Amino acid sequence: MRKMEGSSRRGFKFCPLCGYRLRWRRENGRKRSACRKCGWVHYENPLPVAVCVVKNKNGKILIAKRNLRPGIGRWALPGGFIESNEAPEIACLRELEEETGLKGKIKRLAGIYSQDIRHHGSFLVIGYEASVSKNTLSLNSELKEAGFFSEKDLPVIPFSSHRKIIENVLRQGRRPRRRLINKGDLNAVWFRKGQGKRR
Ligand SMILES: [Zn+2]
Repeated sequence: MRKMEGSSRRGFKFCPLCGYRLRWRRENGRKRSACRKCGWVHYENPLPVAVCVVKNKNGKILIAKRNLRPGIGRWALPGGFIESNEAPEIACLRELEEETGLKGKIKRLAGIYSQDIRHHGSFLVIGYEASVSKNTLSLNSELKEAGFFSEKDLPVIPFSSHRKIIENVLRQGRRPRRRLINKGDLNAVWFRKGQGKRR
């Protein structure tokens, strides 16, 4: 039998809908608390976070020292929680501007990773590469400090998801330049093959 997972770290004792006492139940090998009166189930899902890699014109990467939990006093990519009804790329640029004063533009998706952080739960971290036109920083209270770092001088970043997103962007930068194929191009190739006009 699979190991039971998903026991609540921030569990409810009572149903938030009807106030009835919650009981544990097993569902697909996971343990969830559920209400026997109204049927509400406490599904525990990761919290979505959007972060970005911003490079300056010298190819250095913006890294910020956090002034918030989780990871207070530690270095990380700028970003934050996605609000309800907010697109992840909008959340990413909003957080970037709130934290650093930089107005960014999304260049590309740079990976999606799950990350568990002790005492804080599970996060779904969506990473983007963003560009900025100016790189004068104006930090808010969420950051202790921030700066642009070259690849070899990057500070220690405790979040593995952020490290993978940075690696994704650095790897992309090292690749020889070539035109990215989009879905339209693939359709065009398929169509040409279908017509027997292969080059
Ligand atoms: Zn209920």
